[in-house]
Amino acid sequence: MNEYAVQLKDVVKCYKDGEQDFTVLNKVSLNVKQGEFVAIVGPSGSGKSTLLSIMGVLLSPDQGSIQIGETVVSEKKQKEWTNIRREQIGFIFQNHQLLPFLTVEEQLKLVQDMSKTKEKISPMQMLESLGLGDLSKKYPSKMSGGQKQRVAIARAFMNDPQVILADEPTASLDGERGRQVVELIRQETKKRNKAAIMVTHDERVLELVDTIYRLENGTLVREK
Ligand code: ADP
Ligand code: MG
Repeated sequence: MNEYAVQLKDVVKCYKDGEQDFTVLNKVSLNVKQGEFVAIVGPSGSGKSTLLSIMGVLLSPDQGSIQIGETVVSEKKQKEWTNIRREQIGFIFQNHQLLPFLTVEEQLKLVQDMSKTKEKISPMQMLESLGLGDLSKKYPSKMSGGQKQRVAIARAFMNDPQVILADEPTASLDGERGRQVVELIRQETKKRNKAAIMVTHDERVLELVDTIYRLENGTLVREK
């Protein structure tokens, strides 16, 4: 099996601003190993979310290639991208994005029902393994911000993805809760030997990651 869970090579992405094209990502390359927890930092508007969307097969690059595990995304038809996403990627957003009308257990069940992956553990087993079993029957409106974000982490791991992508997962939390959330991402990434890539502004959680990259002026530079 491939040592790398994610491989980006010379990724270029341009957007249009009125008449003009501007380059957000200018030949960005990045390899992330299984079990590695990576942070991407950089100024607002530097392209961090764009980069994460490309890694998450939500957005296609103008040039360059993306490989998720053994799958070279550009070699696949666009209609297969949904399956790659469902089976290989777990997303954690800034705002948990839980569905208000489902209990915690049902949120995880929904993810499980949509993916046709390998051996399955039950939503309850997943929640218990993350120490969230007592939340299983709760609705999002009855939980704190930190609890909701931890449920979102459990949901991201539910389809047994190779890659976890988190876009500013601590943005709506205070320092202590933010740290707990990032600690949980780290713990599960290591335990399950997945690759996790987190975009963050939160300097305080950077000591919890293995590798730090800064995105600025279209290029990615390793800092740690
Ligand atoms: P970050 O997450 O680092 O704040 P983004 O990836 O969201 O940065 O955006 C990078 C730049 O690209 C910003 O200038 C943003 O306004 C611009 N941008 C993002 N998405 C689009 C789009 N769909 N069309 C045009 N410009 C976009
Ligand atoms: Mg962003």
